[in-house]
Amino acid sequence: MTNFFLLTFGCPKNEVVSENIALKLLEFNIQQTLKISEADIVITNTCGFITSALEENLQTIESLIKNKGKNQKIAVFGCIPQRFSLENLILKYPYLKKIDLWAKNFIDLQDFIKKSQSKIEGSKLLTRLNTFSPFAYVEIAEGCSNTCTYCTIPFFKGPYKSKPIEQIIKEIASLIEYSVQEIILIAQETTFYGLDLNPKTSLTNLIKKICEQFPQLLRIRIMYAHPNGITDELIETIKNNPQVCPYIDIPLQHIDTKILKSMNRFYSEEKVKQLITKLRKAIPNIAIRSTFIVGYPGESEAQFGKLKKFLKEYQIDHAGFFAFEKESGTKAARLKHQNSQQIKQKRLKEIYALQENISKQKNDGLVGKTLSILTDFNDNDFTYGRTYFQTPEIDGYIKIKGQLEIGKYIKITITGNEYPNLLGKRV
Ligand code: SF4
Repeated sequence: MTNFFLLTFGCPKNEVVSENIALKLLEFNIQQTLKISEADIVITNTCGFITSALEENLQTIESLIKNKGKNQKIAVFGCIPQRFSLENLILKYPYLKKIDLWAKNFIDLQDFIKKSQSKIEGSKLLTRLNTFSPFAYVEIAEGCSNTCTYCTIPFFKGPYKSKPIEQIIKEIASLIEYSVQEIILIAQETTFYGLDLNPKTSLTNLIKKICEQFPQLLRIRIMYAHPNGITDELIETIKNNPQVCPYIDIPLQHIDTKILKSMNRFYSEEKVKQLITKLRKAIPNIAIRSTFIVGYPGESEAQFGKLKKFLKEYQIDHAGFFAFEKESGTKAARLKHQNSQQIKQKRLKEIYALQENISKQKNDGLVGKTLSILTDFNDNDFTYGRTYFQTPEIDGYIKIKGQLEIGKYIKITITGNEYPNLLGKRV
C-alpha cells in the first residue's frame, strides 16, 4: 500500500482530524495523492452529526464503492462509525457490505494498514502537517459536556476535554513554521476551554499566551463560543488585543426563551440581547456570526416570527440556519408537537432569504472602505482574500482581479458587492 486519498466531510473540526490522519500515515510511508484513481486506499473522514449529513456521506460512499479500482480499499472513518454500527446500517444500506474498513478511531485504521505495510523506522514526526494554506484551524478541546436536547455529539465524542496549553502552543509554532498567518480556534464549544484542566485555565489565558508567544501572528479567530461563556474578561481580551480578530461566532440556536429552555441552552432572549449590545458597545467594529435552528418541536409561527424580528433588529453580520432534524437518542426527537417537514423547509427558506438581504445590505455599506485582507487562494484570473470579518468558506471573500501572492496581508479598497463576495482593488 503506497498511496491514500482522503475525503473530508463536515465541519472544520473534521479538517483538523484529517490533517492528523494524513500526518500519521506518513509514518507508514504512505503518501497522500490528490488523484483518487491512484489511491490504494480511499479514506472517508465522515460527519454523522445530523441525519441529512449521514445520508449525504453515504451517497458519496456508495459512489466510491461503485467506482472503486480493482485492488482499491475503501475505509470509512470518524463520526459515522463512532455513532452507528456497521451491522445496523447494512440493513438499510446493503452496499456497505463492500466496505473494507469501518474505523472508529486511528488505531483501527493503523491496524488495518499495518497488515499490509510495515512502519518505517525513525520516520520524522511533525506536530502538524503542512496545510498549504495561509490559515489553519486549531482544535483546542475535544468532546462536549453540554446537554443540548437536539444534539448527538456528546454521545459519541464523549465529555469536554481541553488540550494542554503547551500542546496547543507547540502546534501553533509548527503551523507558523509553515507560514500560516491566521489561526482559527475551534472546539465543539471554545469558551469552556481549560475549566477541566488541573490547574484550571481559560480561553482568555490561552489567547493571551498565544499572543505573547507569537507576536508575529496577526490574526487569531474565535469560533463556536457559547453565549454563557463570553465573559467580560474575554470581551476585554478581544478589545485590547489587535492580534485577536474583532469577530466572534456565537451559535445562538434560537431567540425565544421557551424554546431555548427546551433546548437546554441555559440562556434567555434578554441575556442574548444584552450580550450583543455589550459586545458592540465594547468593540464597535465587531462582526458577529451565528447559527440557528428553525422548526424545533413546538416552534409556533409566533416564535418563528420572533426569530425573524430579532435578526432584523439586531442585524447579525453572518448567520447559518438548520432545519430541526429528529436525531435518534436525543430528547428533542421524543418531544411532542414536532413540526412537519413542509413547515421546517418553508421556514428555512424564508429565514435564509431574510438574512441574505441583511448581509447584502451590510456588504453594500462596505463599498468604498479600505481594509486589510489576507490573500487565501488564486482562481483563474482572480485572487481571493479575507478581512477580519470573514471566516474561510462561510462568510464570503474579497475578490481581486489578478494573481497576487498567497498568504500576504495587503490593503484593498472595496469596489463592489457580488454577494456573498465583495469586489476589491489593491491600494
Ligand atoms: S454545545 Fe450543545 S450543540 Fe454544541 S456540541 Fe455541545 S451539546 Fe452539541
